Amino acid sequence: MTETTRRTFLQQTSLASAAATVGIGCSTIPPAKRLAKRGPVIISTWGFGKPANELALRTLQDGGSALDAVEQGIRLVEVSGNSSVGLSGKPNAAGVTQLDACIMNGPGHQAGSVAGVEGVAHPISAARLVMEKTPHVMLVGRGAGWFAKEEGLKVLDTAKDEASYKAWLAAQKKSSPGNGDKPDNHDTVTLIVLDTNGDLAGGCSTSGWSGKIPGRVGDSPIIGSGLYVDNEVGGAGATGLGENVMRYCASYQVVENMRLGMSPTEACAEAIRRIARTDPAGMDLAINFIAINKQGEFGAAGTQVNFPYSVTTPDFSEVRKGQALGLAIQKEGGNE
Ligand code: ASP
Repeated sequence: MTETTRRTFLQQTSLASAAATVGIGCSTIPPAKRLAKRGPVIISTWGFGKPANELALRTLQDGGSALDAVEQGIRLVEVSGNSSVGLSGKPNAAGVTQLDACIMNGPGHQAGSVAGVEGVAHPISAARLVMEKTPHVMLVGRGAGWFAKEEGLKVLDTAKDEASYKAWLAAQKKSSPGNGDKPDNHDTVTLIVLDTNGDLAGGCSTSGWSGKIPGRVGDSPIIGSGLYVDNEVGGAGATGLGENVMRYCASYQVVENMRLGMSPTEACAEAIRRIARTDPAGMDLAINFIAINKQGEFGAAGTQVNFPYSVTTPDFSEVRKGQALGLAIQKEGGNE
């Protein structure tokens, strides 16, 4: 299907027209003249995002696009030996590391993602290739791995590594399929770039929930859940227990909160409060968000204690703490 045919098809569906109506009805898009062009600003989840931010900044300074910056920053984490991103990430219950990633480009509102891929050294690049080289948004499992290899990416043999599986099992003594709800057994690098033109791009990459049932896909590769970028408003992304993010299209909610005029920190906090009002887990959700708006303002909030996120501009690069929500951590407070 050509791009034009696909667009025509989408325009003809009632879903597409409903979405268009909602978009028009809720629109409080900041007028272009309000755009301060405060980039470059790069934000990412956790402290391990900081070197990724710094590489992303160098990529921009070397003439790369926001999209290049996102890809390069995340690629760094994917090969850094991180225990929850890339092939060094956490294996599933069958001892295989299955990876999820997505990428979005603000201009043109493009998106690509891969889920449950095995052996792919750089899932973020696979996601970018899906976005740029196919008419699709998401590829999963074996097909995604095949596509990545066809496109020239490094894809390792995915045969189960018995030795490392046994070592992992020994380290996780009490682990069993689906028993992965400890706060330290899953993380994601989610990185969002605002460039000097005021354009946004973002991406996520993770091995997901440690010991997950094979085939489990988290929020990170789901557009609107683990990541959402709207070039007129801003971008938001998540880390934490994906099941508690993807049931609520949470990153989309954060961006829409910013569209309504909330600051990035408040937009993250309000999405968490709204989810907690509905969810049986209340504030015990283990979810965290980062956000940046078109003006270059940024922030974060989470239900996890002092959720760290990284911020980099040409003037500084540091790890900050997001606003802390949730009864157990209320006393800790946030710093923004
Ligand atoms: N959100 C990821 C997942 O559920 C994991 C994390 O960020 O902690 O797969």
